[in-house]
Amino acid sequence: MLCKYSAWSTVVVWAQVIFVIKKVEIVDFHTHIMSLAGVEEIFPEARQTMFFKHVVPIVEPIADLTEGIHDQLLRHIAINFNNDISRFVYSRFGGIFLMEALRLFKRHGLERLIHNMDKLGVAHSVIYSLEPLTKTKDLIEQVQAYPGRFSIFGSVCRAEPDPVGYLSPFIESKAIKGIKIHPMVGGYHADDLFDATKDFVALASEHNLPVAIHTGHIPIESLTGQAACSKISAIEPIIKAFPDCTFILNHLGWESWRAAIEVAQKNPHVMLETSWQPARIVRRAVDALGPERILFGSDYPMFQPWQAIREVKSALSAKEFEIVASKNGKRLLGLTDTAPAPRVVSEKRS
Ligand SMILES: [Zn+2]
Repeated sequence: MLCKYSAWSTVVVWAQVIFVIKKVEIVDFHTHIMSLAGVEEIFPEARQTMFFKHVVPIVEPIADLTEGIHDQLLRHIAINFNNDISRFVYSRFGGIFLMEALRLFKRHGLERLIHNMDKLGVAHSVIYSLEPLTKTKDLIEQVQAYPGRFSIFGSVCRAEPDPVGYLSPFIESKAIKGIKIHPMVGGYHADDLFDATKDFVALASEHNLPVAIHTGHIPIESLTGQAACSKISAIEPIIKAFPDCTFILNHLGWESWRAAIEVAQKNPHVMLETSWQPARIVRRAVDALGPERILFGSDYPMFQPWQAIREVKSALSAKEFEIVASKNGKRLLGLTDTAPAPRVVSEKRS
């Protein structure tokens, strides 16, 4: 009996060892945390409406209580209904979307992100700055207490008169690992996106840093009049102008996933990030481009990492999951040099 027991426990120990060795160290390539002053600065006109002045103070505490239910439902709707009709419906609710986004930012900070990472096996997260909502300098300071767990992508808003001068110190001191462009939050418009970003994208390219760009419509467009600034066609010129720079298209285009895949097929320096996409679209992207061109991202706190991991895991084989959720991120961030290089897959596969 004793012998049987010790043999069994040896098997269990070895299974645990193998499991730990095989465990994928997930890199989440899309997260945010709040800057302390950001909420007061973002979309000032939109927050002057009657809705924000009188309804939000009542609804926000209720939404805090119902978050566990309504957030899952909203995310389910968002990833499964992104056609023209759904988008039209969402655009009628711009104020509610903005309220919910700001509420999530205020409620889910760095401590909760670390708790989530530890629980889900996320070894490293990329935190994107979204100036003026979240400040690059503030994020760098916030993560200093957790060496090795985070990489920061800096950003600069359209109102900044000297974007290169603004970003240079962060790049030269190696405090940031890349640059994030969120046209909507940063105040860029489709017609000036190329001219307003080309100098600091050149700077990123010179320093071999990746540039992540938001793609996909969000209902806030109806509040700010910046329609089309997140379209693939608006960002294509900047992608084409810098063939030596790695571009990451966040949200894999969301409703424009076909255009995102197409642009990535034409430009081997483009990678697609999976947040807000269901398993079936992640599968399509991997089939079209190969797993080496796809990056796992959650968009925490707007999207819960456990849901994002579930979608990507169910779309991929164990080997593909390791490449998408770990190796690609590590390679881009310089955390390891063992990951395979991206390859260009024939367009016929799409
Ligand atoms: Zn995001």
